[in-house]
Amino acid sequence: MSDQNKTQVRFLGIPSEHVKLLQSGAADENGQTPENITSDGSGYPCRHCLKEIANEDEVLVLSYRPFEHKQPYAESGPIFLHSESCESHHDNGEIPDNIRSQGNTLLRGYSADNRIVYGTGKTVKSEAVKQEAIKMFESDKIAYIHARSTTNNCFTCRIERA
Ligand SMILES: [Zn+2]
Repeated sequence: MSDQNKTQVRFLGIPSEHVKLLQSGAADENGQTPENITSDGSGYPCRHCLKEIANEDEVLVLSYRPFEHKQPYAESGPIFLHSESCESHHDNGEIPDNIRSQGNTLLRGYSADNRIVYGTGKTVKSEAVKQEAIKMFESDKIAYIHARSTTNNCFTCRIERA
């Protein structure tokens, strides 16, 4: 049996249209201008290209809501983005850098109407995120998955069926 018959997944950063607005000075989820800091090269993963923001590069710090509409499950929280424009993550089905660097990752399944699918949330080794997501997608109840930091709870990326 080849892997071609199995569900595959894709890893999605924040949509480029929204990122470009934020990089151009648009207000964040809290209605505030994103803050600017300088990366020291460690622990500043960009949620657009899904790569680490290099030492000395400028970082936007802002509040982001990874849901289209406000509703009780639509959490918002702090994230980092490159201050300068960056290329959207090119998904090749492999675990992105910003998940790999976490060590552990929190995965949580959401339904098509953007509610938490209770019982699906779990902490996994970051290198196992892809296989765990594939297992989670065996449930029809899960429309998409959010990956988050286990230590800071920051939104890391969205995972969908490929
Ligand atoms: Zn970036």
